[in-house]
Formats: sequence, structure tokens, C-alpha cells
Amino acid sequence: MRRRTLGVVILLSMGLFAPPGKAQSFDIVKVADGVYAAIGKPGVLSNGAFIVNKDDVLVVDTHFRPSWANDLIAEIRKITNKPVRYVVNTHWHNDHVQGNQAYVSAFGPGVEYIAQHTAREDMVSKAIPSVQNQLNKDVPERIARTEKMLADGKGADGNPLTDTARTTLSERLASDKAYLEELKSIQIALPTITFERSLVLYKAERTIHILFFGKGHTRGDVVVYLPKEQVVVTGDLLTNGIPLMRDAYPSQWIGTLDSVRNLDWNTAVTGHGGVQTGKEQADRLLAYMKDMVAAVKDAIGKGMTLEDAKKSIDLSKHQAGFPAYTTNPQGFAAASNGAVERTWAELTGKIPN
Ligand SMILES: [Zn+2]
Repeated sequence: MRRRTLGVVILLSMGLFAPPGKAQSFDIVKVADGVYAAIGKPGVLSNGAFIVNKDDVLVVDTHFRPSWANDLIAEIRKITNKPVRYVVNTHWHNDHVQGNQAYVSAFGPGVEYIAQHTAREDMVSKAIPSVQNQLNKDVPERIARTEKMLADGKGADGNPLTDTARTTLSERLASDKAYLEELKSIQIALPTITFERSLVLYKAERTIHILFFGKGHTRGDVVVYLPKEQVVVTGDLLTNGIPLMRDAYPSQWIGTLDSVRNLDWNTAVTGHGGVQTGKEQADRLLAYMKDMVAAVKDAIGKGMTLEDAKKSIDLSKHQAGFPAYTTNPQGFAAASNGAVERTWAELTGKIPN
């Protein structure tokens, strides 16, 4: 059961539950003068942001599909006719980089793509192969599974499909077929500018700080920080839930998140979930991470096995603090399971440092 729940989380993270043909993919939320959050509507899964400067626009993150990036470009064009000149990728995950190419297509070869240097390495070694894997294996297999369920009239649990389930599956099938077509032409536009710790753009009306504080959700996460507006765009270092741990360095994430938290901001545009006002959610995630990592350290110190540790570690007191799980309580258990496993791997030297 745990395994199946995790499978759903992984499928979610692959952008495969999206409803088809949505003309408008984002809610655009103005968070300061010239600064906008692009909150992915249900199915679009990941957020972005854009900053309108005197002469140009900077975009943060590009979602799973170039067609969704094109939807965001249409939203940007409703607000300004200035060209997008910079695209920042907060990290290498496919749901933040697969739309990159839409910007060079729309605005020409002058677009600069900015990321931390290890994020660029991971785009080459992981994100690009993942596109091929989704195209040749994951998405066709998923389409076949959905078609079989519809043909047999039975869900994954073997029970007859309800009308609602049938509708959901049909929508998912149409969405997956559209995504499969789109995957054929996805070629992730790679960063043209990389940096180690920080990169600052001095614009007429503001400075834009792109900052790396250490490993966290991946080994190369950056935040975009606007000191004048007191806004931070966090990528998946902070979300409305427990961010995906698959590629994380949980024990190091605590220090990284603490540094992000201690910047001077009132508004956070995060990788998933709504715009956050104030630091409450950052504090909740920090408290969770500290308890979780301490519990794993304790279990290792006591000589427990990973399986026993997973059974005995109880983080449920934190669940209510995460809006992502209000309608999906199993999501918290699945995410915590993943968090404990990954922390175990990090602390026992199973992943390269
Ligand atoms: Zn991510």
C-alpha cells in the first residue's frame, strides 16, 4: 500500500494527472509592483513567477510542458509588451525546466537561462534522459494502463469504475496523449549563465538576487530574492507540503532553508501551492525537518534497521501544519516515508555528498 501511494506521488511528480486542453493554466497573482506569481491551476502542478523590469522581463521556472510555458507567455503579454530576457531555473527537476524552450522560441536567441552550475549538470545528466524515458516508456505504459482500465471497466484496485472515475480516467488519457505528442519535441534549453553562490542583476528599479545557500531539495537549488519588495521565489525548497525528497539532502536542507527563511521577506512564491504571506509555513517545514532528521539520527544511533525506523518514527503531530494534506492525509505519510528513507541514505553515506 505504501508502495502504491508512493507510486502515485511519483506519477504526480511526472505531470501525468493533468486535465486536457486547458487554455488558461495559471492564476496570476500580483505580489508587488511589477512582481507576479504564476500559480499552476490544478493539473499544472508547479508554479512560476515573473518580474517586469523597465526594459525586460525575468521569468522563474518553466513547468512541465512548453504549451504551459506558452500559456504563461500569453499571460505576461496581457501585462506588458516587454520581452522576456532572463529565465531562472530554481533547480533541475523536469516540472521546472521542460518549458524552457518556449522562451527562446517566443523571444529569440537573446534569452539568457540562469541556474546554479550543478543544476545545469543535473539537467544534462538527469532531466534530458528523463524526457526520453517519459517519451519511450513511462507515458506510453501509463496510457496503456489507463486504456486497459477503461476497456475492462475496472480500476487499479479491481473494483468496477464509477461514472466519476471513468470521466477522470478519460480526461487523464486525453491529457497523457497530448503530453506524449508534446514530449516528442521537448528539447530542454540549457542554462547559458551559471554561478556558484550568487548572481545579482542590477536593474533600473530593483536589484534581483539569485542565491544559492547549499544543498537542499536538490544539490543546486536557488532562490530569487527581491530585497526592495521583500519577496522571495523559493522553488521547491519551500512548498505547501513536504517537498519531494527523492533527490534531496535533508540534513543539509535545514541550514539552507534557515538561510532562506532569514532573508528579509514577507511574501514567498513557492514551487507548489499558493502564495505564502509571512514565514509561518517556512517555520513549520523547518520544525518538521529538524524533528524528522533528529529521529532518523536517533534510529541510526540505536542500531535500528530502516524498516524498523520507518515503523517507529511518528511525525504525525506535524501533519496539520501542511495545507497540501488537508484533502489527502495519506500524502503526509507517503511524503514522510520518502523523507525518512532519503535522510537515512544521506546519513549513512549512501548518496554522494
Ligand atoms: Zn523539485
